[in-house]
Amino acid sequence: MYEKMQKFFDDLSFTNFRYLFYFVTPNETTYYRVEDVPHFTERVSNWFLVLILLEAIVLNLTGKKRKNSLNDSLTSLTAGMLSQLPKFGGRAISLISYSYIYENFRLFDAPVDSVWIWFLGFLAQDLAYYLAHRAIHEAGVFWAFHQMHHSSEYYNLTTALRQGMFQEFGTTFFECLESFVIPPPMFLTHKALNTVYQFWIHNELIPKLGPLEYFLNTPSHHRVHHGRNPYCIDKNYAGVLIIWDRIFGTFEAEREEEKPVYGLVTNVKTFNPLYLQLFDFKELGWDKPRMKDSNHKDLFPGFLNKLKTVLMPPGYFPGVETKPFFWWRCMKDPTEGIPPIEEKVVKHNPRLNLWETVYTVAQFVIAIIAYKEFLPTRDSLSWITFLAYLGCIISTIQAIGYFLDKSPYAARFEIVRLLILITYCLYAENVLLTTVFLSALVYTYYLLLSVK
Ligand SMILES: [Zn+2]
Ligand SMILES: [Zn+2]
Repeated sequence: MYEKMQKFFDDLSFTNFRYLFYFVTPNETTYYRVEDVPHFTERVSNWFLVLILLEAIVLNLTGKKRKNSLNDSLTSLTAGMLSQLPKFGGRAISLISYSYIYENFRLFDAPVDSVWIWFLGFLAQDLAYYLAHRAIHEAGVFWAFHQMHHSSEYYNLTTALRQGMFQEFGTTFFECLESFVIPPPMFLTHKALNTVYQFWIHNELIPKLGPLEYFLNTPSHHRVHHGRNPYCIDKNYAGVLIIWDRIFGTFEAEREEEKPVYGLVTNVKTFNPLYLQLFDFKELGWDKPRMKDSNHKDLFPGFLNKLKTVLMPPGYFPGVETKPFFWWRCMKDPTEGIPPIEEKVVKHNPRLNLWETVYTVAQFVIAIIAYKEFLPTRDSLSWITFLAYLGCIISTIQAIGYFLDKSPYAARFEIVRLLILITYCLYAENVLLTTVFLSALVYTYYLLLSVK
């Protein structure tokens, strides 16, 4: 326990803090082998937690309580955990195809220790991020990989961690474009630092930053990206440098007279984590091609028209004008069909009673502990233990979502889940966890089912 506490504080080092802002030198972040590249996201994760807590305190002290909400923040944090689970050995999904192309098709042997190649790697990854991010917004069903990140009606540091579980499958192609030149360890380093940089820009506390606004992606620019106001749609796709948006015509400055209102154009009123991750694959890939007009005729008749629904922008309907960009088509006028912001914005916020709140937060703490135990050891676990961890983490996160939604199935789902976990813990002869889950079962049965 003491060692874990010690590690927690060791990770709050100044070096790890600098990673949050890409404040590094080429020399200290040059690695010759993929295995040597640190797991940057894991290294900074304790800073994430501390800064999230700090932001919540500041928001409360400055009377901006409405800028965050426990149910929304828990949903974002658990989405962050889910998004790390599909990675093989904790590495980027794209690394396998990236390394294969580099090994077999690289144009030349770029010197890994060259400062120029380091900067080229930085620019290449930032451009690849811009293109990939734009594709997962505009290229039809690709949006389903990314909409999770935009599903929060709030905008704070937790929103940064609300990531799509399968987003990387939608962005791999663009990163592989770099693989003809940039060595894999350098790609991996810049990919991680580029991602980590985007944490701090998710907040409403930091105002416009003067001259930095010209070339850096800042909180102000990214607030626009998360807005659902018509002027914010399909704008500011940048990762670190806003220059790509300025070059490709997708830049839009934040308007003081019309502050962004956050979320999806049509918000999904749920905190169900797996539903939020997956619903849009069905909506865009299955429901949209089958839509009917007011005369009950197919809106997209025939195979080719149906194919259009999954390749054209999510806002595409017959008659809507599009234009080409890279290999896909984007909206000629992204504001087309976007409803204005309603007079009174009502956010999804079911009220939990005290017992439910205590229980949900406790489950979240258990999920975090299991997740932190699982990540560094996942490569060395037996299959049964690996699956047990995955099952425990995912089902706990799902249970949290049911409770936050005040779903009528929440307590029943929880009882079945706990019975399965208790059976496993008895099999694994883990007395501590058996006791924890048994107590949870009693709590759920007597308090959550009886007190309403
Ligand atoms: Zn986005
Ligand atoms: Zn974002």
